[in-house]
Amino acid sequence: MIAVEDLKIANMLRRARPVPDPEVPGSYLANGAAAKTGLNRSISDAGWAQFRSILAAKAEEAGRQMISVDPRHTSDRCEACGHAARANRVSQAVFRCVRYEHEAHADEHAARNILRAGLALLAADQAA
Ligand SMILES: [Zn+2]
Repeated sequence: MIAVEDLKIANMLRRARPVPDPEVPGSYLANGAAAKTGLNRSISDAGWAQFRSILAAKAEEAGRQMISVDPRHTSDRCEACGHAARANRVSQAVFRCVRYEHEAHADEHAARNILRAGLALLAADQAA
């Protein structure tokens, strides 16, 4: 079984809206547009939708199931205690639970959360 996040790429690619600065007419506040541009670029580069469709075809060919899971909290919910908080995500690379200080590599931690969610969906599907 292969579990992937059910990312809504169209939403993620939407341009950040300019926010007018109320103090300085005609100028704009920082709104994360630069960060979003970087994210857009990395998603576009990866060709996520194309990657997913190829992966799905390969999985089917190999007789494997591909499961899309809800992407909410995959990166900020603690795998050890279940506590979900943005503060758990210390940096791009580090996950550290603010409740019991469980620490892990952020990407590996998120990957385990995605796998667990996929396995739970699979188990629920088989029980039905
Ligand atoms: Zn925790």
